[in-house]
Amino acid sequence: MKIHEYQSKEIFSNYSIPVTNEVLCYNVDEVKAAVHKLGLPVVIKAQVLTGGRGKAGGVKLAKTAEAAVEAANNILGMDIKGYTVEKILVAQGVKFNKEFYVGLTIDRNTKSVIFMGSKEGGVEIEEVAKDNPEAILKFPIDPDLGMTPFMARKIAFALFDDFQLVKQASDIFQKLYKIFLEKDASLVEINPLVVTDEGKVMALDGKMNFDDNALYRQSDIELLNEPTEDERKELAAKESGLTYIRLDGSIGCMVNGAGLAMATMDIIKYFGGNPANFLDIGGSSSPQKVIDAMTLLLSDKNVKVIMINIFGGITRCDDVARGLITALDEMKVDIPIVIRLSGTNAEEGLKIISERNLPTVNSLSEAAQEAIRLCKACN
Ligand code: GDP
Ligand code: MN
Repeated sequence: MKIHEYQSKEIFSNYSIPVTNEVLCYNVDEVKAAVHKLGLPVVIKAQVLTGGRGKAGGVKLAKTAEAAVEAANNILGMDIKGYTVEKILVAQGVKFNKEFYVGLTIDRNTKSVIFMGSKEGGVEIEEVAKDNPEAILKFPIDPDLGMTPFMARKIAFALFDDFQLVKQASDIFQKLYKIFLEKDASLVEINPLVVTDEGKVMALDGKMNFDDNALYRQSDIELLNEPTEDERKELAAKESGLTYIRLDGSIGCMVNGAGLAMATMDIIKYFGGNPANFLDIGGSSSPQKVIDAMTLLLSDKNVKVIMINIFGGITRCDDVARGLITALDEMKVDIPIVIRLSGTNAEEGLKIISERNLPTVNSLSEAAQEAIRLCKACN
């Protein structure tokens, strides 16, 4: 889960990491009031859940109130990488001469949280990583020791040469690590971290991602969630007991069990097709679940064929078959369906299906190939 810059900086501020004074605005009148409150210059910044806003024209420095209003008018409603700007941050403009990058994430190689720092801040860090990887310094943090004052100073000395700055920066680094752990983050970034003309180290930007599996114990963070349309679908699916992840292919899959769902996607790929989703209807499945799953698949306009793959264990194939028939009676399905049932009560299930003149197949390979054939026939 991602949050906005202004939200990240609120968290930074709660841990007393220095950030600029700023006001979140939804319209030009609020911007005028914010400028009045903060004084000039200000920076107008698009708040969208994606990076590279500066490059896209979503960050503008304004030296007059008129310029601030003009920038706000331009940025509100702007599209940045598919996200529409609905709110902007008006931040006190700060004078600085150098931009640094610092970030924390989880590193699988060292099996630890890793601190990254660079003197080449400001620009997108992905570009630095590509063109000049040695400009990014990496410090794995021992999970038992945590970010010790010694470690924080060691990192700070690698980035700054003035002891006054090292002191401020190492304090910030320890706090960042604390935030990372306490909030179950998967990423915390400050880009840029700057040294102001007054010699103060400050976060001018903030980015935080969180471990979705830890949100159950981070209720204050969960409240900040602004799911995208796809994520809303995934959440709704979860509420009806389904695990759904949208992909970009055209074969809609309905499967019981996560392992079988993975195998189904693999076999579709193996025969040259593309799954439109991962959909696990889970163990003992009620007809209602099948209806919910069908509704979900049909709501995706990319789905050209539905492939149902059920291996009956606890789930009984006749239950699924009945659910499917009920679903088909209730909704208009105008795309082909390929059904493979195997395991507990498969025979009864197949009988129910074939009584309704729905085609069935005998194996998983056959199901995948048939789904791909029908998919091609649609184009
Ligand atoms: P991003 O492009 O989405 O990462 O947005 P940032 O918040 O990092 O802003 C992009 C750039 O705008 C920064 O690297 C700075 O150079 C500049 N910037 C941001 N805030 C200020 C500020 O308060 N004063 C000045 N002069 N420049 C700023
Ligand atoms: Mn930035």
